[in-house]
Amino acid sequence: AENTAEITEALRAEYAELTDKIRAARRAYYNEDAPFLSDAEYDALYRRLEIIEAEHPHLIANDSPTQEVGGEAIEAFAPVTHLQRMYSLEDVFSFEELRAWLTKTEESARNLTGSAPQWLTELKIDGLAVNLLYRNGTLVRAATRGDGTTGEDVTHNVRTIASIPQQLTGENHPEEIEIRGEVFISSADFEKLNESMIAAGKNPFANPRNAAAGSLRQKDAAVTASRPLSMYVHGIGSRTGLDIATQYETYDLLASWGLPVSPYSEIADNTEAVFDFINKYGEQRHSLVHEIDGIVIKVNDFATQAQLGYTSRVPRWAVAYKYPPEEVHTKLLDIRVDV
Ligand code: NAD
Repeated sequence: AENTAEITEALRAEYAELTDKIRAARRAYYNEDAPFLSDAEYDALYRRLEIIEAEHPHLIANDSPTQEVGGEAIEAFAPVTHLQRMYSLEDVFSFEELRAWLTKTEESARNLTGSAPQWLTELKIDGLAVNLLYRNGTLVRAATRGDGTTGEDVTHNVRTIASIPQQLTGENHPEEIEIRGEVFISSADFEKLNESMIAAGKNPFANPRNAAAGSLRQKDAAVTASRPLSMYVHGIGSRTGLDIATQYETYDLLASWGLPVSPYSEIADNTEAVFDFINKYGEQRHSLVHEIDGIVIKVNDFATQAQLGYTSRVPRWAVAYKYPPEEVHTKLLDIRVDV
């Protein structure tokens, strides 16, 4: 019994240390746009936390990072409550894990709807999530994701991004619609931006994601305007009177309204097509318009999405496959024994 008590004590200590470290990493990443861990290092810590919680559910704290969408709105910006909550994505790190997720989700979908779901495969853009609110076709507000419920008002800054329409084109705009997507800096623009930062005697950005987040979350919109920000939209939130059945059709509709939609999304009719998509973009990973940190697989049909629903943190109808880290592999292993 003594031994068990010791193990429990050691676990509790590890658990507390892990959650502290993850919270600090999140603050640095989401609030300060200055991460001190690589994404792979962060993912390894997070995964360790998930394993401990799965094996010892009694340890799970209500405010555990696994129960929340990371990032909170900081005071420098006015808070915005999203009309419909924004979520994160569940991660899988291997084909084996992905296959298990696809099988489980297909089974749930069959039980709920009587048929297997159609998948949609997309690139996971390494930028930051932004929620655009349009009323009768006019952009009225833009906010960061924040903790999923409340984000930061970045309307002035978003208005400086050329590819985001102030006024939708086309017709039949809903009275109100939230359109979500990723603000990013393309790989080519990132190189140019860093060259100009260095030429101006300033510190270059660590990566395009930081550059995009740091550029968007500026008090002075003129600074944002000088940065080469782009956006691809990849979902909708709250909407009034929109009769549409699938995610993929939604992209066509959003494109018809002049919104920037990723050219890379594809319907996958079976799981093999999902793996083909991952392999295809795994090879081209560094020669795309923007950096990617994985592939997102979604259930295409909205009715099935609604039936599958959400956890407190992620949709049950989508998953992110993360490619294995390339250069930080040994470091990742170190961290695993270290924590
Ligand atoms: P996430 O960024 O891994 O996934 C969710 C987000 O993916 C969504 O909010 C959405 O905006 C975005 N996304 C991109 N392309 C998409 C598409 N096609 N469809 C749908 N969504 C798409 O989740 P998260 O919870 O914000 O962050 C966790 C990840 O962030 C970690 O895995 C890690 O890589 C990174 N992170 C790193 C550190 C660090 O210290 N380096 C700290 C915190 C988080």
